[in-house]
Amino acid sequence: MNVTEKLALLGGTPVIKSSLEERWPAFCESDVEAAAELVRRGEISYNGREGTVRDLEEHFREYVGTRYALAVNSGTSALHSAFFAIGLQPGDEVLAPTYTFHATVMPVFVCNAVPVLVDAEADTGNIDPTLLESHVTARTKAIVATHLNGYPVDMATILSVARKHGLWVIEDCSQAHGAECDGRRVGGLGDVAAFSMQSRKQVTAGAGGILTTNDDRVHERAVLFGHSLNRSVEAVVSDEYRRFASTGLGLNLRMHPVAAVLADRTLARLDELLKVREANCAHLDAMLSRIDGVHPPVRRPHMTRIAHYSHQPLYRQEELGDLSIGTFVRALAAEGVPVSRPKSPPLHQEPAFQDPEWKLDTYHPGPGNSYRRYRDGQLPNSETYVATALRLPVFSRDVRGELDAVGEAFEKVTQQAGLLRDLERAGCVPVPTA
Ligand SMILES: *Cc1c(COP(=O)(O)O)cnc(C)c1O
Repeated sequence: MNVTEKLALLGGTPVIKSSLEERWPAFCESDVEAAAELVRRGEISYNGREGTVRDLEEHFREYVGTRYALAVNSGTSALHSAFFAIGLQPGDEVLAPTYTFHATVMPVFVCNAVPVLVDAEADTGNIDPTLLESHVTARTKAIVATHLNGYPVDMATILSVARKHGLWVIEDCSQAHGAECDGRRVGGLGDVAAFSMQSRKQVTAGAGGILTTNDDRVHERAVLFGHSLNRSVEAVVSDEYRRFASTGLGLNLRMHPVAAVLADRTLARLDELLKVREANCAHLDAMLSRIDGVHPPVRRPHMTRIAHYSHQPLYRQEELGDLSIGTFVRALAAEGVPVSRPKSPPLHQEPAFQDPEWKLDTYHPGPGNSYRRYRDGQLPNSETYVATALRLPVFSRDVRGELDAVGEAFEKVTQQAGLLRDLERAGCVPVPTA
């Protein structure tokens, strides 16, 4: 291919002819059969810890290396259970990433506790662990951190801050099933962890989640939060809580048996999946690293195994004469690259964190404390990350051959960035028609 050929955005021929699509989740016939068999047998709810839910919990705790794994109906429920399980009290403060899926943080409100948002690293989007300490107050009770896109956060630094100030650590592993930090699987590195098994996640139940912990008391409290009757009577054995086991707190966050069997089967294929995704990402990153204006996602030494969830290189417009990222993405898309940009802003730019009146006011953080209000620009590195990240799919089959064309498309567009910039300055970048 000649990178000086006319850009597709300007009417030329696209580099990529057949569309490169990721199909996920990717269930096979035997998964469908296993699900159908449960329905046929009428095995569609459980009383105690049994059947496919027990199997999933056993396999999951073995995989992560924790004493307990507790299946629930969503990642959000796993996070909510975790916040309850550590005993958050009204007014307690929880240090949390401003850049994450909102469910990492919103359940803190439901515990009448106060999320304190922490800025991201501008190059990974992960919570910046070096900023944690400056946010610690007498009310700080916990840190929650997300392993964003499957790139583990620096747990060693987070744990040392937590130890120094006596804080709980909650890992949100919803995008990081199988990731390793300094050679150890995420999900067992803090006090408690939550995984989502929503349909896009590496291990998927369609809808589901799982909580992992090594702490007996945290496990019992998480069981009491979302389970009752046989399930909690079997699991809750301490003198402190045993007598409350039959009712629990009365919520029902149980996982569906069919969801559990799908999760269990995708968990069995997780290592293979991560290997394929790594090969694809590394192949494309090697090409991107030779191109001006685009930088592969940053890999730090503690990220000993990345569990690819979304592939997000960074765009550096200053290296391409200040061509805007918007035009750059449009030109790539016209060449057939399945590229987009992050859809959600950091949480401090959401109305729930900016509006002077937080209207969901059944929740009260307690006397002398109130929810923090934020403004645009307050946590600038997270905004830089969102403004510069490119979003590419991760592929679950070996597409290295097809990715060569993606690399060529990047090269073609960056080579002709000057032309695009001139058109941009003259206000005449074509609007894509399709
Ligand atoms: C998907 C996700 C969740 C929420 O999981 P659900 O299963 O959709 O409730 C929470 N945190 C992060 C980081 C996620 O990516």
